[in-house]
Amino acid sequence: MMEFTVLTIFPEMVAAFWEHGIIRRAIERKKIFASALNIRDFATDRHQVTDDRPYGGGSGMIMKPEPLAGAIAAAEKTMPAARKILLTPRGRVFNQSVAWELAACEGLILVCGRYEGIDERICHGLIEDEISIGDYILSGGELAAMVIIEAVTRLIPGALGADDAVENDSFSNGLLEYAHYTRPPVFEDQHVPEVLLSGHHRKIENWRLESSLMRTLLKRPELLHGRELNNREREILKKWSDEIQRILEPYQRSKKRGDCE
Ligand code: SAM
Repeated sequence: MMEFTVLTIFPEMVAAFWEHGIIRRAIERKKIFASALNIRDFATDRHQVTDDRPYGGGSGMIMKPEPLAGAIAAAEKTMPAARKILLTPRGRVFNQSVAWELAACEGLILVCGRYEGIDERICHGLIEDEISIGDYILSGGELAAMVIIEAVTRLIPGALGADDAVENDSFSNGLLEYAHYTRPPVFEDQHVPEVLLSGHHRKIENWRLESSLMRTLLKRPELLHGRELNNREREILKKWSDEIQRILEPYQRSKKRGDCE
């Protein structure tokens, strides 16, 4: 069973997350175990202070090292094989392949910063990985931890119901997912593509692959660069390329004529 522990000064934020949807079902199915430790409980002073002013001056507060170290040690005690990850904007950027990598871990200890961040000394020895969920700044690591937990849980065998298959999800095969339709067959003059109503499985499969390739090409072409294409995918792209070539031919011919005149 995959275990997640979130180290945070706001455990209530993540506690609500365990109680809904896929995460709740995965916990009930005993595919994951999720918990949070309050960093404040590991503060060493009477007032349970977890932050202090930065050495060298400047604005904002820094999370003190002792409570963080205490929380990490406590999490490690129950999850010795877990990967210790700091959520930070300077980390490697999270994506589906990082999600697959993390899904192979026995557990994840997710350390959430707040304020201006954490004392640098925590990163030397106590942290094994640094992950960002994108090039923007959040006020704390909790949302980032929840994003990672949700994306990773989806990949754990048996965590999703049979109806929520992941193999067709965007990025699972390096492409964006095909377009979806449900009833009614006509909505505001827009018709569901005929082939999807045909019951012809092979044609539906082909249509979905074309839809998937088309979306990827138009919306995220960089995903196609460097991705190995199978024969069928190459055939489809070649068909489009020939079609585009045919459309452009008259213009290319007239340009050549113009060049000669
Ligand atoms: N001063 C820091 C900087 O410029 O990199 C930002 C600190 S941010 C306000 C507070 C905390 O939110 C960070 O310590 C980190 O844990 C979390 N955080 C903010 N943005 C994040 C992101 N894009 N990915 C992951 N964690 C993030």
